Amino acid sequence: MLEITKENIEKAIEKARATKPKVKVIEFRRYAVTNKTTGANYEVKFYKISGKKFAECDCKATKICYHIGASIGAHIIEAEKMHTATA
Ligand SMILES: [Zn+2]
Repeated sequence: MLEITKENIEKAIEKARATKPKVKVIEFRRYAVTNKTTGANYEVKFYKISGKKFAECDCKATKICYHIGASIGAHIIEAEKMHTATA
C-alpha cells in the first residue's frame, strides 16, 4: 500500500494521460485498469486511513503507478456520488 501525495499522483495522472488505459469501476474504491495495447489487467484499490489517502495496485510497480493515476479520476467521481448519496 502506497501513500498518495499531490506530487506522486500528478506524475501518475500525467503518465495515464499518455497511455490512456481503460478504467472500469468494480465497486467503490476498487477499479479494473486495462492496458489497451497489451490487454493486461490490473486492479487498483483506494484506502483512506486517518485522513491520509493510500492506493494499491497489483502490477509490479513499487510506487504510485499510472494505473492508480488512471483510476483516481473515476474514484473522485465515485466518491462524489457516495457523498451526495449519504448527504
Ligand atoms: Zn499499477
